[in-house]
Amino acid sequence: MLRSLAMSGLLSITGLTVANTALADPSTGGAQDHTQPATETDPKPPRRIASGLTLLRGRFVAGEQPDGNSVLIDAPEGVIVFDSGRHPAHLERLLATARSAGKPIAAILNSHWHLDHVSGNAPLRERFPNAEVHASTAIEGALTGFLATYRSQLEQALQGDAPPAQKSAWQAEMARIDSGPRLLPTHPVRGDETRRIAGRELQLFLEPDAVSGGDLWAFDPESRILLAGDLVTLPAPLFDTACPARWRRALDRLRAIDFEHLVPGHGAPLTRSDVDRYVTAFDALLTCAASEQDATHCRDAWLSEWHERLSAEDKALGAQLLDYYLGQVLRGEAAGRYCPAVA
Ligand SMILES: [Zn+2]
Repeated sequence: MLRSLAMSGLLSITGLTVANTALADPSTGGAQDHTQPATETDPKPPRRIASGLTLLRGRFVAGEQPDGNSVLIDAPEGVIVFDSGRHPAHLERLLATARSAGKPIAAILNSHWHLDHVSGNAPLRERFPNAEVHASTAIEGALTGFLATYRSQLEQALQGDAPPAQKSAWQAEMARIDSGPRLLPTHPVRGDETRRIAGRELQLFLEPDAVSGGDLWAFDPESRILLAGDLVTLPAPLFDTACPARWRRALDRLRAIDFEHLVPGHGAPLTRSDVDRYVTAFDALLTCAASEQDATHCRDAWLSEWHERLSAEDKALGAQLLDYYLGQVLRGEAAGRYCPAVA
């Protein structure tokens, strides 16, 4: 398990560590059959969350990397896709949902550059070459930094022993990174602004230092739905490339919007009071992480806050994630490594 974590300093992005840890954990019998999902099984069907807005839930499956949630917005000139997922199965579901709207995909918005939100850009643009991509330019730095490092670690991991299915998953991951320019924005977002996209007005907001070094979130005034990306996620916040203190400030900006429902980057939609609760629990988690409290106490306090909301599988996943983040990211040398020099 320790060896796996050390090898996967990189592989930790949004759940990968959990996957690898589970695979290598002797208490689960070592080489677990990762083709058998231990968390969610069947994907949830697309769900209409407001007039013209359909949510396609992403999944966390043990032994695999996650897909983020996607939202499809029916606009006058085509479908707008908010986050394009990672795996081909997610893409197929996304395309089928778009087809039922009877319009082409006119635009993609990416909340951030993590591969569970951006990988579908390349295949979508292949099918819809005129589709605009509205996103932060942070992905440019990620492609030569974090993702380049991740790619070389994958390449190295491929030299070792691993089940064939694991190796092909790593190869697919490298191919996603190699999509490079086809993942980039055609219409960069460099700050807060209102844009008319495919004939529909959306308010866009940019956080330079929160979850990923460039987090875009969007508010649709017509439905009063706020699309938060990974600024809000359940079963736990995902701290892999985050600046926790700046992230906390971003949550206040988001809360200042008069939204009715918020779609998180992972997990089910939240009401305004759920989001208030999220922020309180986020504060408590950071305070606990900065204290002398035992990490299990911090973890369990977060999980008990969401007790009624999370399935048994989600709780197990949340516990694994928080054990990792409290041990490796929020405390010790790595803490604050993604924060700007002057906080
Ligand atoms: Zn994500």
